[in-house]
Amino acid sequence: MPSSKQDISAFGKILINWYNANKRDLPWRKTKDPYLIWLSEIILQQTRVDQGTPYYFAFAKNFPNVKSLAKADEEKVLKLWQGLGYYSRARNLHATAKQVTENHNGKFPADYNELLKLKGIGAYTAAAIASLAFDLPHAVVDGNVYRLLARYFGIKDAIDSTEGKKKFSKLANQLIDEKNPGTYNQAVMEFGAIQCKPVNPDCNVCPLQNSCYALEKKQISNLPVKAKKTAVRARHFNYIVIHYKNTVCLNKRLAKDIWKGLHDFPLIETKDNVTENEIFNSSELKTILEANKFHVRSVSKFYKHILSHQHLHARFIEIEISKSLKNKKLIKANLSELEKYALPRLVERYINER
Ligand code: SF4
Repeated sequence: MPSSKQDISAFGKILINWYNANKRDLPWRKTKDPYLIWLSEIILQQTRVDQGTPYYFAFAKNFPNVKSLAKADEEKVLKLWQGLGYYSRARNLHATAKQVTENHNGKFPADYNELLKLKGIGAYTAAAIASLAFDLPHAVVDGNVYRLLARYFGIKDAIDSTEGKKKFSKLANQLIDEKNPGTYNQAVMEFGAIQCKPVNPDCNVCPLQNSCYALEKKQISNLPVKAKKTAVRARHFNYIVIHYKNTVCLNKRLAKDIWKGLHDFPLIETKDNVTENEIFNSSELKTILEANKFHVRSVSKFYKHILSHQHLHARFIEIEISKSLKNKKLIKANLSELEKYALPRLVERYINER
């Protein structure tokens, strides 16, 4: 918590001065449109600024307002999101657009608690929209803000504990500049992103260096504190790429699992990596192929694909059949039209490399 050295009212002024001199020129900073601000925030929760910017432009161009996004096909939304991962965010984006259109006549509510009621909008996004679009004094607390506050004020509570979250949020709301909440929030996030960086921040040029707890106590690499290590699950995917004439079979993923709504190939998931022969002789393959005879065209190397909580080990087995499959759930896609479908990046990567 703030010590006598750390003047709360000076903190915001220092950050805003620093921000005015150092801020990056980003397209969503030129607007007060809550729809565009929301779009940028959702995309930036998923990726870095340089990677997210083309996605922002693509969404803003295809769906210039919330009503046009609400009317879009989910397929098109997922296709534009392709490559960003975490597809539930794209589905939530679409659902929120429909909610805003139907319940708020296409206008984001200028109220923090009303914003919180929208699907996929949590405390962070609600505070960002409320402050940046409507100048309401709600402090944003993202990873950059946690890091800066933990280091500068020497807060050792875990940022992923309920107590810690409450403490950081309370402090952040004490620090906010009530006259310029939007600028203050931009400044604190930008400062965390480019000055108080996760590794090796350049404290020699930092305007907070004279009163920073972590710098004085040599605690920079120990703050912020995180309690839990995220458990990572290993999964083993054997994709069956079934060729019949000029088509391959695609599967639309509908189960509550990764990549819901996207397309991949029929899949045999195993507990571990297994040999090709185990797959060829498996009952799962027999079921997928409806007991048809098949000819193996190729077996790929293993691809490792890392998601936030899962590590996928995937192999693609291309086989040819001489009789069309009856399974109506499979999409018989023309080989030259695969890019039409929303695909997980792993599948896209394989298609591009094969
Ligand atoms: S002095 Fe270093 S650790 Fe402290 S706020 Fe500045 S950049 Fe971060």
